[in-house]
Amino acid sequence: MKFAKIKYLLLRRICQVSILVLFILGNYSIATLKNVQYKQEVGIFGGNIESLMGDSSSVLAKEPSIFSHIVQGNLSHSSWFGGIFSLTDPLSVMQIFLAGGGLALDVLLGALLVAAIYGIFLGRVYCAFVCPINLVTDFANFLRDKLGFNTAQRKLFISRSTRFVILGLGLLLSALFGVAAFELISPISMLHRGVVFGMGFGIFAVLAVFCFDLFVLKNGFCGHICPLGAMYSLLGKFALLRVKHTLSNCTKCMECVRVCPEPEVLKPVGKQDGILKTMTCLRCGRCIEACDDNALHFSILHFTQKEKK
Ligand code: SF4
Ligand code: SF4
Repeated sequence: MKFAKIKYLLLRRICQVSILVLFILGNYSIATLKNVQYKQEVGIFGGNIESLMGDSSSVLAKEPSIFSHIVQGNLSHSSWFGGIFSLTDPLSVMQIFLAGGGLALDVLLGALLVAAIYGIFLGRVYCAFVCPINLVTDFANFLRDKLGFNTAQRKLFISRSTRFVILGLGLLLSALFGVAAFELISPISMLHRGVVFGMGFGIFAVLAVFCFDLFVLKNGFCGHICPLGAMYSLLGKFALLRVKHTLSNCTKCMECVRVCPEPEVLKPVGKQDGILKTMTCLRCGRCIEACDDNALHFSILHFTQKEKK
């Protein structure tokens, strides 16, 4: 198999696994301090995000080790390189804010930093390179393909806009009931915390996502349901990193559309030259790997490598 055919797949897996390993090592090193107070905090931290957002300093190690210097926390809020900067999930922050919860300064700054990184440069890259659920849904998709479900199954119609409705609903429910509504049921948080701190009943939420994608709907969760993916789509609507289509190279084989988890992004393929503007593109690189005709490339500020014929 040519390296060019799997380079983005490899990069995605390396990023996803490295991030998980860093979180495991960072949190494991502080969990071995035999600090009773900390162990109690881990219990709260694993179960209630509000305690995390209200006082993020409660998760800092009392005696940091080499790994806890790199990262502590989880995908909702993490402190990097001994507290030099924080990264916070903007959707969690919005929910906590609407729910009336307190937000520490490092939590707010972490959310702004994440919003700037994805909003200005990377778009919805989080979904393809960071989110651990992507490992689960990619596996379900792989099995669907192998088992022939994509061709044999009757098509179930759920609009891809449903995720934006769920995003709005999550924020509304947070404001109405004073809890971070999506955080309570998020399979993403459950999987990440499960892998890092130990899996509990969250495994059933992850299994539900897996079964939904395998048996019910192709790219069902990420492409139709997930409000976090919807939030990153909106945030990255004008991001600089894009996929660019070179019409003159395109042979209209549509292999890119077959592999794309958000096929509507590729509507201009075979018809129109230029960058793909649809905000739901994950920048996963699958279409680029699938194209044998050099008709698709990543582009930053409309710059691409010289297209080869
Ligand atoms: S859509 Fe949601 S679950 Fe899927 S990869 Fe993106 S954030 Fe993760
Ligand atoms: S257009 Fe390409 S990079 Fe964007 S989601 Fe589809 S396959 Fe991934």
